[in-house]
Amino acid sequence: MQAKKCAAIVLAAGSGKRMKSNVKKQYMQINGRPLIYYSLKAFETFGVNEIILVTSQNEIEYCRKQIVEKYGITSVSSIVAGGKERYDSVYEGLKAIKDCDYVFIHDGARPCISQEILNNCFETVRKYDACVAAVPAKDTIKIADENQFAEITPERSKVWIVQTPQVFQYSLVKKAYDTMFASVQELMITDDAMVVENFTDKKVKLVMGSYYNIKVTTQDDLLLVKDYLSEF
Ligand code: C5P
Repeated sequence: MQAKKCAAIVLAAGSGKRMKSNVKKQYMQINGRPLIYYSLKAFETFGVNEIILVTSQNEIEYCRKQIVEKYGITSVSSIVAGGKERYDSVYEGLKAIKDCDYVFIHDGARPCISQEILNNCFETVRKYDACVAAVPAKDTIKIADENQFAEITPERSKVWIVQTPQVFQYSLVKKAYDTMFASVQELMITDDAMVVENFTDKKVKLVMGSYYNIKVTTQDDLLLVKDYLSEF
């Protein structure tokens, strides 16, 4: 695939409360395989040099035996425990990487990630050092005030819905996370691009993702991804 070394961090340390299910969403069976399998397999097929899987501490052994070994995903170099917030889990993943030029950070809850998106992101990150998969908003977006009255309507043609993977030059994103964790600022960080935007001068390029690249959050989403993944 490349002369440059790439790593992927696949995040699966969330609690998945909104799914309202006994089995955590990342381990639910989709067409006979656990949901998290599809993201891991996509990065293995793409040919990254290593995958760091981030899970809860008490799921590390389960993931090793029932997912990584069972399905023979040999690019997984380590399985590490995540943290309280998504950005804590990402930081654990970043610290576990042995050596790479570029890192793909991906929500394990997005199983429909395609090789086309991975290729587009890889081309873009080599040019701009920081990029995220995203799709143009089809609906008008409103920013609400604290009482849920519409306050601002951003110009729709400029609004994008951000997905993962979020892909960065490793040294850039690691330094941005180090700076964030060393700072006292309280920030509402919901994606990695925000960390790079807030703690470096680098601009983050948006790469066309896919409307199928959904984050499985509720039961309805499961039906959508089952349909999509049945074609593979
Ligand atoms: O919570 P959210 O939907 O933003 O989670 C996105 C991804 O981040 C999911 O794959 C989830 O498992 C992961 N996550 C994590 N550690 C957390 C919270 C979320 O790895 N503390």
